[in-house]
Amino acid sequence: MKPFLSLQKLAGLLLLGLSLAGQPLWAAGKLPVVASFSVLGDLVSQVGGSKVAVMTLVGPDQDAHIFQPAPKDAQAVGQAKVVFLNGLGFDGWMPRLLQASGSKAKLITVSNGITAQTMQEDGKQATDPHAWQDPVRVQQYVRNIAKGLSDNDPANAAYYNKNAASYLMALDQLQKWVSAEVGAIPASKRRVITSHDAFGYLAKRFGIRFLSPQGMNTEAEAAPKDVANLINQIKQEKIRAVFVENISNPKLLQQLSTEGGVSVSDRLFSDALSKTNGPAGTYLNMYRHNIAVLVAGMKKN
Ligand SMILES: [Zn+2]
Repeated sequence: MKPFLSLQKLAGLLLLGLSLAGQPLWAAGKLPVVASFSVLGDLVSQVGGSKVAVMTLVGPDQDAHIFQPAPKDAQAVGQAKVVFLNGLGFDGWMPRLLQASGSKAKLITVSNGITAQTMQEDGKQATDPHAWQDPVRVQQYVRNIAKGLSDNDPANAAYYNKNAASYLMALDQLQKWVSAEVGAIPASKRRVITSHDAFGYLAKRFGIRFLSPQGMNTEAEAAPKDVANLINQIKQEKIRAVFVENISNPKLLQQLSTEGGVSVSDRLFSDALSKTNGPAGTYLNMYRHNIAVLVAGMKKN
């Protein structure tokens, strides 16, 4: 289900990482930290503020499910003091990368303490890793980030806790706004089609039904039978809210919309932010963007 690093590749990364190890990657005077993917990179930046320098391994519009670490990633992890990962099987390559780089960094799993949901994957129940799609669970992420930074940089603990407290309030406001927006849509219209099944936590929290043919991993191909079933469902239930994601191949959804007779509504951001100048450059902007286009799409159902 996840790509693994081969031993040869790890050894190669280690050698390249060591040969580059003399070059400092980080601004002096800040706590050097690494986050596995862009959504988490933003959350760490919000809490760390001006006291940390955050490097993100899987960048904007990139897919952590199929990520292959490069020598520069081993180098970054090797020089970091704290490394943050999502956990729940999303970025399972991180502990091996840490080991390969000889890093002494503290590894913080930000999903620790949340209740995980399950999802269908290849006909079996699997842990759903996309917990950042629920702003309430992200509050636990933020508490774990604040603790991780404070434990490793006690001199700035009060600063991290203050940033975390104001971000927790922003997440409260976000949740209230989403509840009001989605609440204005009749329950019978709250149905959406996406390419990969990344919105289970959002669906449960706010009462939206997501249908997706691709399953959890973006690398898996949708079976023709599933695609045919979904097209029938689109026609029968008259679903017009059909979305592509920033990290996935839009071909499948284009096929669905051609054969199902609906047009693709807009782009959702699931596993990665947009570039800074895009519509989803931060977690809060990503969430607001997704809800705005989801609500507009569901109104057409
Ligand atoms: Zn995903």
